[in-house]
Amino acid sequence: MKIKIKKDDNVLVIAGRDKGKKGKVIAVYPDANRVLIANVNLRKKTIRQQDQMMDKNFAEREVPIHISNVMVICPHCKKPARLGRRSEEDHKRYCRKCGKDID
Ligand SMILES: [Zn+2]
Repeated sequence: MKIKIKKDDNVLVIAGRDKGKKGKVIAVYPDANRVLIANVNLRKKTIRQQDQMMDKNFAEREVPIHISNVMVICPHCKKPARLGRRSEEDHKRYCRKCGKDID
């Protein structure tokens, strides 16, 4: 399965704890089929005992989520859309809903 999500895409989470959330892709991990999305799948940072006095806010950070749990939001029709490619050689993606190129 080829990853069709790219950095800076806006995506909608369609499954899991953060279902319904939208966010911007800040990193893609093709080997793991995971993406890191701003403000999605936040986990409390593990704080070492000696740091707890300094860090009372319990900083949260994003954890990558599996690409099957997100859909790219088409910048043209603003809807979560399945993306296609015109051909194997063509790396441009297009929205299967409105047919417009995304890249
Ligand atoms: Zn579209």
